[in-house]
Amino acid sequence: MSDKLNLSFEFFPPANEKMQEKLWVCVKRLEEIKPRFVSVTYGAGGSTRERTHKIVTHLAQNTSMIPAAHLTCVDASRDEIDQIVQKYWDDGVRHIVALRGDPQAGIGEKYTPRADGYANAEALVHGIKKIGDFEISVAAYPEQHPESGSLKADMDNLKAKIDAGASQAITQMFFDNDLYYRFLDECEKANINVPIIPGIAPVINFKGTKNFAKKCGTTIPAWLDKRFAGLDDDEDTRRLVAASVVVEQVRDLYAHGVRDYHIYTMNRAELTYAISHQLENIG
Ligand code: FAD
Repeated sequence: MSDKLNLSFEFFPPANEKMQEKLWVCVKRLEEIKPRFVSVTYGAGGSTRERTHKIVTHLAQNTSMIPAAHLTCVDASRDEIDQIVQKYWDDGVRHIVALRGDPQAGIGEKYTPRADGYANAEALVHGIKKIGDFEISVAAYPEQHPESGSLKADMDNLKAKIDAGASQAITQMFFDNDLYYRFLDECEKANINVPIIPGIAPVINFKGTKNFAKKCGTTIPAWLDKRFAGLDDDEDTRRLVAASVVVEQVRDLYAHGVRDYHIYTMNRAELTYAISHQLENIG
């Protein structure tokens, strides 16, 4: 097994010009790390369709990094999605993160697919592959997707996405590595043989992370709660703690043979750079 640790980074499309400038500063700084690829999210309900496209094509055409475009099925017909995918192909983008997307009413509510749309991520992967031979990543859930009836149903769904043509999965954030190791075992049993890349979320705002974790079913271990206790009004210290938590998490994953990591940067250059720098010579 190679000692080399590979990072990929996730950005989100900013809502205004000031934040847009911040994004490009972040991109420039993190380009130095030479990530394996960088991905750009797609806002809830497809709300960032144009912005995501602009950022992804800019990354493809003006940086040394390989971009991946997130794409969801929400609130769009198959024709509309096919056009977006074709445009990515024409613009030289070759990697898509194919997702169903969250229910329009919010996580935890009932998802109703459009009759003329792609029903789920598996259908979307099939649709994308018909348009071009893209590299496709899909989502995986070490602690089970909140809408799935069982771990087995979730595993069958992941297998269907891989069989449809996805070549790797990126996980939902998790903080208890044992749950990820258990999930890898389950994937192996289900004959899922593609890389399951851990999605690593630096805890920038503990309250916000806790809220999101509750909705998406991610366990917050007691030790994490303790690390951030009393720091609600102390952003500087929180940032230092966040970096050390990620480095510890990755060190443990690395010791268990994991070599690829997807970092949810939240467009924060300093924190992601500091984390990446510390991980550079981890082997
Ligand atoms: P799917 O794999 O289609 O499955 C979702 C759930 O529905 C599963 O529980 C599955 O078992 C069930 N299911 C699927 N098909 C059927 C069926 N036919 N019958 C019954 N049940 C079924 N959201 C965004 O809006 N934008 C983003 O950019 C974005 N990026 C993400 C990146 C990563 C790495 C991850 C992990 C998530 C991301 N999400 C994003 C969130 C994602 O859209 C949600 O988690 C969504 O609820 C599920 O998407 P999915 O692709 O996993 O769906």
